[in-house]
Amino acid sequence: MSDCIFCKIAAHEIPAHIIWESDRFVAFADIRPVNPGHLLIIPKDHVEVVFAMDDERYAEAFAAAKTLSAPLRRATDAKRIGIAVEGFGVDHAHIHLIPLHGPHELNPDRAQAADPKDLAEMVEKITSEINKN
Ligand SMILES: [Zn+2]
Repeated sequence: MSDCIFCKIAAHEIPAHIIWESDRFVAFADIRPVNPGHLLIIPKDHVEVVFAMDDERYAEAFAAAKTLSAPLRRATDAKRIGIAVEGFGVDHAHIHLIPLHGPHELNPDRAQAADPKDLAEMVEKITSEINKN
């Protein structure tokens, strides 16, 4: 979709901290993280909601979440990696992958604009952990 911000990110048409990419998915850092290291996984093709993906893509999306969870955990020293799907912000399917250090942190009210320098440093940390795999 031409006016969809996530389509533009997936197509590299607007800048984003893309930390991982496959043929059909992209993962990038949320600029308003619930916790540092908060990632979004999106399909490259425009699909409005997660449950509208066909079974194969749906499985691929959650396999990507699993693949990214270990390096993300190492990069952030998180106790757990939380997964959340709401989809109210942008009408393009996205899975939140959020490092958690304790209970009750998986809460969108905690989202705050990240300092650009902190965000860039976190992205570098995560990318370096991914490359160790
Ligand atoms: Zn889109």
